[in-house]
Amino acid sequence: MIIKNFINGQYVDPIGDEWIENYCPADGEIYGKIPDSTRDDVEVAYIAAKSAFPSWSATPVEERSRILLNIAETIENNLERLAEAESEDNGKPVKLAKRIDIPRASQNFRFFGHAITQFSSESHETVGKNAINYTLRQPLGVVGCISPWNLPLYLFTWKIAPALAAGNCVVAKPSEITPLTAFMLGEICNDAGLPKGVLNIVHGFGHKAGQAIVEHPDIKAISFTGGTQTGAKIAATAAPLFKKMSLELGGKNPNIIFADCDYEAMIDTTVQSSFSNQGQICLCGSRIFIERPIYDKFKSDFVARIEKLRVGHPNDDHVDIGALVSKDHLEKVLDYVDIAKNEGGKILCGGERFIVKGFDDGYYMNPTVIEVDSDDCRANREEIFGPVVTIMPFDTEEEVLEISNKVDYGLSATIWTNDLSRTMRMSHAIHSGIVWVNTWMLRDLRTPFGGVKNSGVGREGGFEVLRFFTEPKNVCIKY
Ligand code: NDP
Repeated sequence: MIIKNFINGQYVDPIGDEWIENYCPADGEIYGKIPDSTRDDVEVAYIAAKSAFPSWSATPVEERSRILLNIAETIENNLERLAEAESEDNGKPVKLAKRIDIPRASQNFRFFGHAITQFSSESHETVGKNAINYTLRQPLGVVGCISPWNLPLYLFTWKIAPALAAGNCVVAKPSEITPLTAFMLGEICNDAGLPKGVLNIVHGFGHKAGQAIVEHPDIKAISFTGGTQTGAKIAATAAPLFKKMSLELGGKNPNIIFADCDYEAMIDTTVQSSFSNQGQICLCGSRIFIERPIYDKFKSDFVARIEKLRVGHPNDDHVDIGALVSKDHLEKVLDYVDIAKNEGGKILCGGERFIVKGFDDGYYMNPTVIEVDSDDCRANREEIFGPVVTIMPFDTEEEVLEISNKVDYGLSATIWTNDLSRTMRMSHAIHSGIVWVNTWMLRDLRTPFGGVKNSGVGREGGFEVLRFFTEPKNVCIKY
């Protein structure tokens, strides 16, 4: 499989003819190669986007919307092959990609295809001064979208769809580890009638192709999802260039369980919030705090449930946990298990590499539950981003709030309780961009999405992201 850049509506080789090997996590085999793009490729992509901008930004909103809805439908029509590609590239179970990743990629285009028709300017009559003020929302020009490997097409399109809806042209880079569905998106956009040059996809390493996008003086905004360290580097590069920036970064999200919760719903959801997508979702609740009266019961019930999860080849429909995304990542996650052990953590289940028969070189790992006796340990403070959770009892609301807020991250939090006043107190006091009460990852695309502290700057979703991808201009007319 040869993956190429998608520039000006065509698939092209990288100018330098340098390539990167791409691995299939399920068996550890090389399955293809992708462009090792450089600044030169980014420049060609930028020129294509710049040339397309005058026409795309002047295209009536109804027409832009119609094209976005076509892309949504074309993704839906390709559900099976996109899901299989996503799984081959990322290691996630095919059934998960079919149920979550690909439908959501389609929904991203459908949602913003509709949302843009409802996104309007404000006007203010300035009474007493015979003036009317209105605010134009103009597209920025050419924008850069950079996305990670965990939810490849889902997060790639979560940026691209609103950028295009708002009238921008895009230079985008998916993760070098999971380029396949982004590659397929080019053809889908052509089939759906997206004009040439409006979307350009450049593959390659973050420190080369990604960095060139961020450094490009005429790419007006950077929408980035990825790790906190990378986010800091991007911010340091883009800030002196006065670019708009949206940074969706890491998380270390608390899952806070009070004894009065609906226990069955809580435990079902907690299995999901801990290990969906092999725990490689920025929203996973990787620190589980349980009120002491139900701690022992939770511990044994939870571990029993986790031990029943089936780890295996992503193509197998009976599998709950597929492969981790890469060998490096598997090693990083296993290192964290060792760190936790050295810090006194008790491994209640998992903790080891798992060999799937016939796929011995695949990057599999048992889902792992670690009991810690203090929140003040690396396993509890640092983002592991794999199938590993810590559990710990707590006694009071004040105590759990303090330990929840003590980490550097603040993306999401989950609270399980049936006490309304406590729900309100906790939701307001917790340091995070998103709070789920008695549920997890229930998404409504109209809501603001993003984190506080080291989890990011800015919000995606709904009108928030359409505001990000437009520049407000105030026009004041005296009459
Ligand atoms: P990385 O930060 O390593 O990479 C993200 C993207 O940025 C990749 O495309 C990467 O390229 C690129 N990149 C790397 N360096 C640069 C640079 N200097 N300039 C421009 N681009 C660069 O993250 P991962 O892919 O490892 O993803 C996992 C991380 O993403 C986790 O921390 C997770 O929490 C976070 N995440 C956050 C979400 C949120 O909404 N807050 C959602 C999902 C994930 P390359 O492929 O070469 O690495």
